[in-house]
Amino acid sequence: MADRTVEQHLAAVLAVARPLPPAALPLGAAVGLVAAANVVCLVDLPGFDNSAMDGYAVRAADLLGATPDAPVRLPVVADLAAGDAPARPVGPGEAARIMTGAMVPDGADTIVKVEDTDAGMPVVAVFVETPLGSSIRRRGEDLPVGGPVLASGTVLTARHVGLLAASGHATVTVHPRPRVAVVSTGAELIAPGKPLQPGQIHDSNSYLLAALVDAAGGHTAYRGSIGDHPDEVRALLDRLATEVDVIVTTGGVSMGVHDVVKAVLRERGEVDFVTVAMQPGKPQGFGVLGERRVPFFGLPGNPVSAFVSFEAFVRPLLRRLLGLEPALAPTTRVRLTAALRSPAGRMQFARATVSRDPHDGRWLATPVAGQGSHFVADLAAADALLLVPAEVTHLQVGDEVESILL
Ligand code: AMP
Ligand code: MG
Repeated sequence: MADRTVEQHLAAVLAVARPLPPAALPLGAAVGLVAAANVVCLVDLPGFDNSAMDGYAVRAADLLGATPDAPVRLPVVADLAAGDAPARPVGPGEAARIMTGAMVPDGADTIVKVEDTDAGMPVVAVFVETPLGSSIRRRGEDLPVGGPVLASGTVLTARHVGLLAASGHATVTVHPRPRVAVVSTGAELIAPGKPLQPGQIHDSNSYLLAALVDAAGGHTAYRGSIGDHPDEVRALLDRLATEVDVIVTTGGVSMGVHDVVKAVLRERGEVDFVTVAMQPGKPQGFGVLGERRVPFFGLPGNPVSAFVSFEAFVRPLLRRLLGLEPALAPTTRVRLTAALRSPAGRMQFARATVSRDPHDGRWLATPVAGQGSHFVADLAAADALLLVPAEVTHLQVGDEVESILL
């Protein structure tokens, strides 16, 4: 069977993905998530006329003619801090000391700031005339009760969370983080920190992918490593399919005799094992598992292949589940500082380091030396994936290519 193109495989992945059902989350858990409903203000903002300054609440008419040489002296009949409810109004010829954020008492129409007075108690001397209405923050001037706080589809920032709290909401309805299980498969895998026996390697994929999932807005609900025993793999996947929203495995999907993921899942017919015209990342498994039809990715085991597969297919699916549009993050054009060869008929995801051209500010990209799919050190050094189209086999210095900045 002919290879799928990257676009065809991505389309097959996105075809099963819908934004997760909305849920009300505490504000602290909602930053970066997408609002799934319109939200209106539960209170007036500000909630009442209040002072914008530390000073005195007065009637502007009482200050007419005040100068430093001939101050107006007013008895101070109240002392108001933020949080106080004024007990009495301010009458003609009276003042109330007032702090920023305190309610303006009835009768007062103006705040004179403390710097324009002698700060006196129980009588204050005011040195300037003050325009009517000065330094009063009006009830509802920012947003009235019922006014719009959030539109459905908004990606929540810290500023939105601040507004939600101010407007009286303790929770917000969003598309929740997808719970993701990440499972490395392979009899050779040993947890990092444990000593290696001959032939063994440290499992790096599950750590790599869990970090990618969490940084992409998902939640790694399970991370583990398992050998190549079909019964164990089957049991783990069956359990995870009842617990999470997405399952990602690595290893065991190509042509080897111990390729357990493929062996276990192909027998059920829910998962397609295909070859995609890309480098790295050619063997790919994708389908849905169990009654909940949980999206399943069987990614190849080489760490660079697993990483590229995440960027090409898993991240777009997570974005779709989160309600983020577009599912594909935008790409950036970069100019090569070195030539690059690419295989015919396969889209290459070449790793590169990028910088800004000091003259014109445009992005420059230098491919890393190790383009083989086992080069984890060069993967870590890279900060871009160059997307070399399938039909392109040679790129020269100065050629431009689309890239994903990491
Ligand atoms: P596989 O796809 O299972 O044939 O694995 C391909 C290559 O990737 C082999 O060299 C594996 O040892 C390696 N590999 C598989 N899984 C992992 C992992 N979790 N961490 C690091 N390397 C891995
Ligand atoms: Mg393997």
